[in-house]
Amino acid sequence: MTDPSSRPVTSLYVHVPFCAQKCEYCAFYSEAASGELINRYVAALIRELELISPTAAPRTIFFGGGTPSLLTLRQWETVLRAMERAKLLGAAEWTVECNPATVSLDKARLLRSFGVNRISMGVQSLDEKLLDRLGRVHSREMVFKSFDILRAAGFDNVNIDLMFAIPGQTLAVWRATLDEALALGSEHLSSYEVIYEEDTPLFHQMQAGEFSVDEDLAATMFEELLQRSEAAGFRQYEVANFARETRATTIAPPANDATSSLIAVPSTAPATAAGGLLADVPTFACQHNVNYWRGGEFHGVGPSATGYVAGERTKNWSNTQLYCEQLEAGRRAIESREKLPPLGRAGETAAFGLRMNHGWPFGQFQAVTGFDLRTEWRAEMDELTARGFAACSDERFQLTPLGLRYADFAAEKFLRP
Ligand code: SF4
Repeated sequence: MTDPSSRPVTSLYVHVPFCAQKCEYCAFYSEAASGELINRYVAALIRELELISPTAAPRTIFFGGGTPSLLTLRQWETVLRAMERAKLLGAAEWTVECNPATVSLDKARLLRSFGVNRISMGVQSLDEKLLDRLGRVHSREMVFKSFDILRAAGFDNVNIDLMFAIPGQTLAVWRATLDEALALGSEHLSSYEVIYEEDTPLFHQMQAGEFSVDEDLAATMFEELLQRSEAAGFRQYEVANFARETRATTIAPPANDATSSLIAVPSTAPATAAGGLLADVPTFACQHNVNYWRGGEFHGVGPSATGYVAGERTKNWSNTQLYCEQLEAGRRAIESREKLPPLGRAGETAAFGLRMNHGWPFGQFQAVTGFDLRTEWRAEMDELTARGFAACSDERFQLTPLGLRYADFAAEKFLRP
C-alpha cells in the first residue's frame, strides 16, 4: 500500500495580501502597500513555492486575496516564470481573483498564456451608491469593461462575485443587479449575504445603530437569487455557488493574440481536476473549492494562508513583513500547526460537505474520513431531518433548500471538540 503522505498534493492556494484600499466589510488579511513591499513579497512567495514544489503536482490552483490582479505585469511575469521553473504549471483549473479596477488586456493575456484558465471577478454590486457604501474601488462601468477584456484575452470560464443584504440595498436594486450580472453570461456565480465580521467598519456601524439588519429581506433576496439564477441556466451546487452546465454564449478565440502560448493551455477544466473528490456538480463548478468542501488536501502559500497536508493543518503568519523575513531566512513562514483528532477532522469535513446540494453520500464520507455518518452523528441527523432542514435516504444525507438557507446552523452540529 502506498504511504498517503508520499502522494503529491494536487491543490494549491496562493494568497496575495494587497488591496488598493480596504473594503468596509472585509476581514481577510490584506493591506494597501508600496511597490517595494510587493516586490519583496513576490521574492518570498517564489521561495515558498520552491519549498513546496517537491510535494506538489497541482491540478487546481487558486490565487486569492487580497487582490491578485493588483500585481504589475512584471511582478506577475516573475511569479509565473518561477512557477514554470518549479514545474507548477499545467493545472486543469487555475483561477486568479481580479478586481474590475485592475484588469488590463496585457495582464489578462499574460495570465492566459501561462495556463490560468479561470477568473473570479469581485463585483459585489452594480449599483454605484452601494459600491461606494462598501468601499469598493471600482465603478459599475469597470465591471462591464473588464468582463469584455477577459473574454477578449480568451477566458472562457469566469466567475462573478455578488453580495446581497447590503445595508441600504432594496429588493428592486438587488433584482436589477442580479439581472444585469446574469445577462453578462458568465459561467459561474458566487453570491454571499453580507457578513458582519468583528473589527470591520461595517460591523462597528451596525453596533452603533447606523442601520438595522432585516432578516426577512435577506431571506427574500436569497429566494430571488435561487429563482433568477436557475431561470438564467445556473445550477446551485453549494449554498452560495452556482454554475452552468454549458456556456451561455459562444466565445471567440482571442483576436491578434500577440502572446505566445508557453504551455498547452486547458480551457474548460476536465471533471477530474479535484482528484476524484468531485461530487455531482455542474460542468463549470469551481473544482478547487469542491476539493475544500470534500475534505481534500491542499498547500497554502502566502501570508495568512492555511494548508492541509497529511492530516496536519498549517497557518502562515498574517504579517507580510514577518512572512518575508522567514522566507528570506530560507524557511516556510508557518505560525501554527495543528493535527486534529480524527473524529474532530471528520466532523469538520461533514460540516463543510453539507454546504453542497449533493450532501454526503455515506460511502464517500467513509472513504474520505474513515467514519460512518450514520453511527457517529445519528442524533444530529435525526434532529435536522425532523425540523425539515435535511433529508436522509439509504444512500446519502443532504440539506433541504430550507436547510441550505441555514447551513451554518446545521453544519455546526457536526463539529466535535
Ligand atoms: S478587495 Fe477583497 S480582499 Fe481587498 S479589501 Fe475588498 S473585499 Fe477585502
